[in-house]
Amino acid sequence: MKRVPRAAWISGLIFVGEFCLLLWLERRRPLRRAVEPKFRRSARNLSLAAVSALALQVTERPLIASLTRVVEHRQFGLLKQFSMPRWFEVALAVALMDYTLYLWHILIHRSPWLWRLHLPHHVDLDLDVATALRFHFSELVVSAGWRAGQVTLIGVSPRAYSAWQRLLMLSILFHHSNVELPIELERWLSRIIVTPRLHGIHHSMVRDESDSNWSSGLTLWDWLHGTLKLNVPQQAITIGVPAYRQPEDVSFCKLIAMPFRSQPPIWQLPGDGEPERDALPVPENQLAK
Ligand SMILES: [Zn+2]
Repeated sequence: MKRVPRAAWISGLIFVGEFCLLLWLERRRPLRRAVEPKFRRSARNLSLAAVSALALQVTERPLIASLTRVVEHRQFGLLKQFSMPRWFEVALAVALMDYTLYLWHILIHRSPWLWRLHLPHHVDLDLDVATALRFHFSELVVSAGWRAGQVTLIGVSPRAYSAWQRLLMLSILFHHSNVELPIELERWLSRIIVTPRLHGIHHSMVRDESDSNWSSGLTLWDWLHGTLKLNVPQQAITIGVPAYRQPEDVSFCKLIAMPFRSQPPIWQLPGDGEPERDALPVPENQLAK
């Protein structure tokens, strides 16, 4: 049997540790009121995650592992054209992967075909650490193609790729979590990284709010592109998309089939118009409580 490298063990332990810590904090300091029973939702999300993990194992993992080795060996891609210290190249690669993931996130929302694949992630009626793992396998398989483009064009080495993957995983668990951080701490953190309140706004069923806060790591990209939205109080947010409001609409089997079925008008409440937000009581440039 193949031995698992020590670094993989350590990052696996950090991942499980962060997941358990956030679960515990979600019980102690929930940020938003839950709609569905936590155990049922988490079991459904983790089942979807298990299918997706299997799909990743046979698609993205072998593809990217060999691509990063080719990039390193042939000195291919943007970063390999310059001579720079190793640590600086890794830091730049991580930042550029984060930026191009921001672009991919916009693309999967904007392209009707790709949006179908991302939809199972957004129809979750609550948002917490288990949502962080709930991606449809088709989204992950298709995004392996984008990932290959990122690695090749940027020139990402195996070391830089695994650094990016680990940081992304830590960030994704954190910003999907339903943990209420002290507002002053979160206002400070959100100047640098995506936080739970910021990402909560992205999961709002108000379209204008969902069309914001696309970053997955650094908030810099939303800030630079003018897509950062701060002033929506979390208690005013309904998580999900308007067309799927009932727990029976988002069962495990329906989620698996969702990208392949015809869709109702996603941003319309059944039999009603598009949800909107009244004037917000918080200044635009301030993260709301
Ligand atoms: Zn999204």
